[in-house]
Amino acid sequence: MNKIAFITGASSGIGKATALKLANDGYDFIICGRRAEKLAELTNSLGEKVKAISLIFDVRDREGVQKSISSLPEEWKNISVLVNNAGNAHGLSSIDTGNLDDWDAMIDGNIKGLLYVSKAIIPYMIKNKKGHIINISSIAGKQTYANGAVYCASKKGVEAISEGMRLDLTQYGIKITNVAPGAVSTEFSEVRFKGDKEKAAKVYEGYEPLLAEDIADFISYALTVPERVTIADVTIYAKAQAAPTTIYKS
Ligand code: NDP
Repeated sequence: MNKIAFITGASSGIGKATALKLANDGYDFIICGRRAEKLAELTNSLGEKVKAISLIFDVRDREGVQKSISSLPEEWKNISVLVNNAGNAHGLSSIDTGNLDDWDAMIDGNIKGLLYVSKAIIPYMIKNKKGHIINISSIAGKQTYANGAVYCASKKGVEAISEGMRLDLTQYGIKITNVAPGAVSTEFSEVRFKGDKEKAAKVYEGYEPLLAEDIADFISYALTVPERVTIADVTIYAKAQAAPTTIYKS
């Protein structure tokens, strides 16, 4: 069996691109998400070179996460790499008009979901005295922008968790890499704007945004540096982007 990578949010965007990239790097996979059909498509496209298991759960479902992960066959619990990628922004509203369900979805998914998955997997890494956790944060975790207070708070939470994980887990030989992407053209904006494709497309108009593959390439690189090296924290912008809301459009 190859090394095993566990990727959350692999049904689209950055998670899917990461699975495809790491398949080339020779990993076997546990891929997760809520949309079973998308994960099945991905498993098919990974080809016969690698083995893959899909786990269907909502990261906000504490028991579901624990049950799914503990139900893995023993040989699949030997997880080398965890990519905590599942997450989304929901809405773009001022703090006085924001929707409470959106706030719950972001805090519960982006922070608590990441914690539930990590809590279930870290013991296997500690047992092996080895592992690599890659947390997908955001430039929203570095700098707050107007109408994004809660999404930014959720990603600042991810930044704090990455730092805390590094402090607590380095002693067990576990590496932590925090990745903060800028604007990446994925389903992200469509989810944020609740299926409004036109509004979502505007986010990426007039400049060349990052592609999910650009983030996947970096993840692959972070996993291939020598064992003595940890890439702790990286911010990745599209060339036209200088800050969360400063994008030079033509
Ligand atoms: P996508 O919307 O394309 O992908 C999001 C993925 O997360 C999907 O696979 C989705 O799967 C999964 N997901 C979301 N919520 C849950 C949940 N509650 N339970 C289980 N899975 C969930 O967006 P991206 O690929 O762009 O986003 C990936 C990560 O990158 C997110 O954490 C996002 O915050 C971050 N990011 C994105 C940026 C961008 O501009 N695109 C910029 C900076 C950071 P399913 O729907 O099947 O459950």
